[in-house]
Amino acid sequence: MATRYPGVIPPHMLKRLSEHGSESQRRWASSTLSTDRHFRQPMAAREMAAALHAEYSNSPRGTPSRYIFDAGHKTELPGELVLSEGEPATADDTAHEAYTDLGATYRFFYDVFERHSIDGEGMALLGSVHYGEAYQNAFWDGRQMVFGDGDGEIFLPFTRAIDVVAHELTHGVTELTAGLVYYNQSGALNESISDVFGVMVKQYQAGQTVDEADWLIGAALLGPEVQGKALRSMAAPGTAYDDPVLGKDPQPGHMDQFVDTTDDNGGVHINSGIPNHAFYLIATELGGYSWETAGAIWYAALTDERLANDAQFVDFAGLTMAHATQRFGSKVADIVQKGWQQVGIGP
Ligand SMILES: [Zn+2]
Repeated sequence: MATRYPGVIPPHMLKRLSEHGSESQRRWASSTLSTDRHFRQPMAAREMAAALHAEYSNSPRGTPSRYIFDAGHKTELPGELVLSEGEPATADDTAHEAYTDLGATYRFFYDVFERHSIDGEGMALLGSVHYGEAYQNAFWDGRQMVFGDGDGEIFLPFTRAIDVVAHELTHGVTELTAGLVYYNQSGALNESISDVFGVMVKQYQAGQTVDEADWLIGAALLGPEVQGKALRSMAAPGTAYDDPVLGKDPQPGHMDQFVDTTDDNGGVHINSGIPNHAFYLIATELGGYSWETAGAIWYAALTDERLANDAQFVDFAGLTMAHATQRFGSKVADIVQKGWQQVGIGP
């Protein structure tokens, strides 16, 4: 397992920033895009990651195994170990935030789905903070989390947003379960599943019901200069931001507005708005806590062996209906079906 995901800030946002930002914003965005494009893990780094996983993936069920490294503003991973599982907080807030976020994500998957870390077998959760210079992204490289500090104007440090951290770790879960190919509809489904579990981790940590939640992704990341609420809105895809530098949120919330593009791996961060909105509609219609019914259905579909790695939206929708019927009965299944229909998917 070692797919390097593109990071929570999609390339279309960084590209806009590199063209329309102030001089320093253009420089930071270009440097982030270039870092992302040229990301390579030399053999030595891959061997070190494998050795770290072998050494640290040993916690008992119900307990995470977290190790946070400081990359020292360089791009070599993992950097220097600064915080280990069970140690008292270090002086560095960012390292501590990363540690807390990884713990909250572990707790959600374990408490709600009895999943012992990303692989279900206690895989160590490794994270590197202070990656690169004003690096404007956070990503999962198949072995660990990597967090940039942001530039402070457009993006704040990436450890601030628990939903973003959970989004990235969920890519690891998806890779080890459904293995959804990161392209076109299966890729948009992969992205959406990361947003769905990301938003649930945020709601779980805050103890929020579906009515109390804001259904935003990455709200805590946007800097003071951005005209917008978040990176994405599950309640109203396409309305998260409208900013002179970043442009307008391009997400559709219905199949009628499906975007055909070769950019962004076939619009994986764009068309994910459609299944995102279906989850929002279904969870809010069901009421209560999102993870109790809607989340349980999504998790069952994600981990169902019948979910093919090139699944389309409609295939995933079909599985959610099957699990809804099986676990919760026809009343819940009807709500699930109606939610998908409202975004233009299914019979
Ligand atoms: Zn993603």
